[in-house]
Amino acid sequence: MTITPVDVLAIAAHRDDAELTCGGTLIKAAKRGHRTAILDLSQGEMGTRGSPEGRAAEASRAAEIMGLAARENLDLPDAAIVNDPPARELLVRAIRRLRPTVVIAPAREGRHPDHPVTAQLVRDACFLAGLAKYDPEFPKHRPTKILHCLTYRQDFIRPTFVVDISEDFERKLEAIRCYHSQFDGATQAGEVYPTGEPLEEVVRHHGAYYGALIRRRFGEPFFTTEMMAVDDILTLEVSTF
Ligand SMILES: [Zn+2]
Repeated sequence: MTITPVDVLAIAAHRDDAELTCGGTLIKAAKRGHRTAILDLSQGEMGTRGSPEGRAAEASRAAEIMGLAARENLDLPDAAIVNDPPARELLVRAIRRLRPTVVIAPAREGRHPDHPVTAQLVRDACFLAGLAKYDPEFPKHRPTKILHCLTYRQDFIRPTFVVDISEDFERKLEAIRCYHSQFDGATQAGEVYPTGEPLEEVVRHHGAYYGALIRRRFGEPFFTTEMMAVDDILTLEVSTF
């Protein structure tokens, strides 16, 4: 196993999920010098549009635009991802190879059944990856933090925080535009419900809404199950008025 550590790893069920839900955050982290990566769990072979090969080429172009250090695919069955021991073992090995500090996972609820399964699969694999006696051939590693993407979700879960992606939003759109086979002329995708507008406009409106919550132009929302700590209350951002 070649170990290539990254700082941030986004794990998504399908190619283009990470671009749509946390692309701006990944672009921003890479700009700050952090090593970022995406692990797509499936090839997207059940997608109505495009072929797996075409989507692979689109995904690698998007990876370049986002400045990713690595993008891998676990080749689990699209639309049939299950959280079972073989899937957990595959994911544990990838986590131990990439050794991320922060892992970005899908929301815990989802329109596509692969998304909530992936969210729990990621949580379980991150925990198991830290057990020395689990698959001991590969050195243990447990990420510090798991962030769940909330972009486009309608569960009315309050985000734990919003990342300001104002400077990175246009590049996020550029990465999304790489998926010609998926999105040319599209009005919906993944967790993005159709409103009748072009997909790009829907993505723009959601980004602007979350940006407005922190008084910025564009944002991406995240949820953590654990509480955030504050050291100095005088450094708190976002004014009440
Ligand atoms: Zn998806």
